[in-house]
Amino acid sequence: MVTSLYFLFLFLFLALVAMIAQSNNSEKYYSDLDIDEWDCHECGYHVQVGNICIYCNAKKQNNIKTDHANAK
Ligand SMILES: [Zn+2]
Repeated sequence: MVTSLYFLFLFLFLALVAMIAQSNNSEKYYSDLDIDEWDCHECGYHVQVGNICIYCNAKKQNNIKTDHANAK
């Protein structure tokens, strides 16, 4: 009787942890997509939302490439 109660609480605890981890991951996913600001490499426009420049439709470049360009 005591052990079955223990497993029930353990299961509920694991389910709660899984739900919290899932919601945290989705928040992180959206923040990476929408809140990241960057400067367009084509026209220099400072894009605040999204991965595509609204002025010239240029796609966002990776940070690794910009670091490499700065090193030149
Ligand atoms: Zn642009």
